[in-house]
Amino acid sequence: MHTINVRTGKRVDMIDITNETQAVVRAAGFADGICVVFVPHTTAGVTINENADPSVVRDITTTLSELISEDGSYTHSEGNSDAHIKASMIGFSQQIIVENGKLQLGTWQGIYFCEFDGPRSRQVWVKLLG
Ligand code: ZN
Repeated sequence: MHTINVRTGKRVDMIDITNETQAVVRAAGFADGICVVFVPHTTAGVTINENADPSVVRDITTTLSELISEDGSYTHSEGNSDAHIKASMIGFSQQIIVENGKLQLGTWQGIYFCEFDGPRSRQVWVKLLG
C-alpha cells in the first residue's frame, strides 16, 4: 500500500491529486490493473470530476454546502455532522483502470480529494491490484 499526504487549506476544499496518484503508479512500476484510491477519514472523501474548468469544483462544494447546512439540528457532539454527511455522499474510494502504466481517466477527468472539515493533514491510501 502507498500513502499520499494531503494538506488541506480550507474547511471545504477539493484538491486535485491526479498527478500524485499517477506518480505512485509510476514509482511502483505498475503497468496494468486497477488503482484503488481510498480515503481513511470520516469527514473527507474522494471523487472524480472535471479538472479543466475550476468553476465545476466550486459549484460542487457550494451546492453540497447549500444542501447540507453546517448548523442543522444535529446530535453529534463534535459539531461537524455536515462534514460526515458530505463525506458519505461523496464516498471514500475510487477505482481507476491502469493500462501501460497510465491511469485511464477521461480527457476532462481528475481525481479529487474532498475535504469537508479542514484545514487538516490528511492521507490517501493507494493500492495497486495487478
Ligand atoms: Zn465528528
